Amino acid sequence: MTEDFYDVLGVSRDASEDDIKQAYRKKAAEYHPDVSDAEDAEEKFKQVKKAKEVLTDEEKRQAYERLGHDRFTEAEKRGGFDQGAGGMGGAGGFGGGGMGGGGMGGINDIFEQFFGGGGQGRGQRDRGPQPGRDLRTRVGLDLDDVYEGVEKQVTITRPEHCETCEGHGHPPDADSETCSECNGQGRVTRVQQTPLGRVQQTQTCRQCGGEGELYDETCDDCRGEGIVQEETTLTVEIPAGVQDGQQVRLGGEGAPGDPGAPKGDLLIEVRVRDHEKFERDGDNLIYRLPISFPQAVFGDTIELETLGGTVELDIDAGTQSGETLRLRGKGMPRLRRSGYGDLYVQVQVVTPDDLNEEQREALEAFAEAGGEEVEVKQGFWKKLKNSF
Ligand SMILES: [Zn+2]
Ligand SMILES: [Zn+2]
Repeated sequence: MTEDFYDVLGVSRDASEDDIKQAYRKKAAEYHPDVSDAEDAEEKFKQVKKAKEVLTDEEKRQAYERLGHDRFTEAEKRGGFDQGAGGMGGAGGFGGGGMGGGGMGGINDIFEQFFGGGGQGRGQRDRGPQPGRDLRTRVGLDLDDVYEGVEKQVTITRPEHCETCEGHGHPPDADSETCSECNGQGRVTRVQQTPLGRVQQTQTCRQCGGEGELYDETCDDCRGEGIVQEETTLTVEIPAGVQDGQQVRLGGEGAPGDPGAPKGDLLIEVRVRDHEKFERDGDNLIYRLPISFPQAVFGDTIELETLGGTVELDIDAGTQSGETLRLRGKGMPRLRRSGYGDLYVQVQVVTPDDLNEEQREALEAFAEAGGEEVEVKQGFWKKLKNSF
C-alpha cells in the first residue's frame, strides 16, 4: 500500500516534470478502471493519480522529499486532504469517469500547520470528523437485462451506527468521568522538536476515542464499538448498455463516518454473464447462423430472434460460408447515449453428414452435371448400410 510515489510511477528520483507526466499518462491508461480488469485497478489508479499530483507540484514534491512517504501521507491525512472518492458523482453516479480522489484543498494549510509557522505554534485547525469509507459489491446481469436496463436488488452486510447507543458505544445513561489524558477535550496536541523545526500535531485522544469522557459501561449491542454489521437490501437502477466491469455508484450508501460526517459511497461492479446465442463486442453483437447448402445457393429470408424482437434477414443467393451480414441498429443500446450498436450475423454453411439415398443420388447428379468425378468414400457406404 505505502509504495513510494516514484516507484508507483516507475520514474527515478531526479525525473523531470515532463518525465513524470509522461509516466503518469502511461500508468493511468494501464490502470484506468474502465479499461483494466485487475481487481485492484481502481486502487492502483488512485495511487498513480496521487503520485502525479504530488510529484508535479514543486512545493509538494519538496515536502515529499523532506518528509518521506509515510510522514508526508500522514500529514496529508491530518489535513483532511484525502477525502477518498467522496464528493464526486452523487447518487447513482456512474462509471469510472468520476474517480479523482478528493480535492487538494487545504494542502498548504496542512504544511503550515505541520511546521508550526516558524515555531510560533499557531492555532490548530480541527481536522474535523472523517467521512465513512466506500464499500464495494458486485451484481450479475444477463444480456437481456443490459439490453433493457434493469432494477436489481442488492443485499450487502455493512457497518452501521449502533441504534442502541447512537454510535457512542455506551448507554446514554452510563456514568462517566472526564478523560484524564485529554482533560475532556477529546484531542491531544503533541509538540516535537525535529531537525525541520517545531512540529505540532493534534490527534484524537486514544484513551476516550474523542469523547472526552470515560464511561463505566459499554453498550451490549455493539460491545462498545458504536458500530454493528447489518444486512441491507438496496434497489439499484442499472442503465441500459452497461459494460461488464463497470461500476454504479450509490452516494451515501457506504460505511458510516465519524458522528456528523457523511457516509461513504457504495460501488457496485456490474458483471455481465455470457449469452447462449449472442457474443458481445462493445455495443455490437455477433451471432453465428447455420444455414443449409441449398439456402446458401438459392438465398432465403430468415426470421431471426434478436434481443429487441424478431427481424427478417435476407440471405443472398450464392452466400459463402463465413460471410458476415450486418444488421444496423440491432445490437446493444449505447450507454447514456441514444442509438444502438449493430448485429453481425456470421453465416456458416452446414455440410450434411447424414444423406438419405435420394439426397445422395441427387448430389452425385449435381456433381456429374458440373463435370466433377466423385469417388464415394468407403465410410460413406458403411454409414449408409448401417442406417438400414
Ligand atoms: Zn451500541
Ligand atoms: Zn481523552
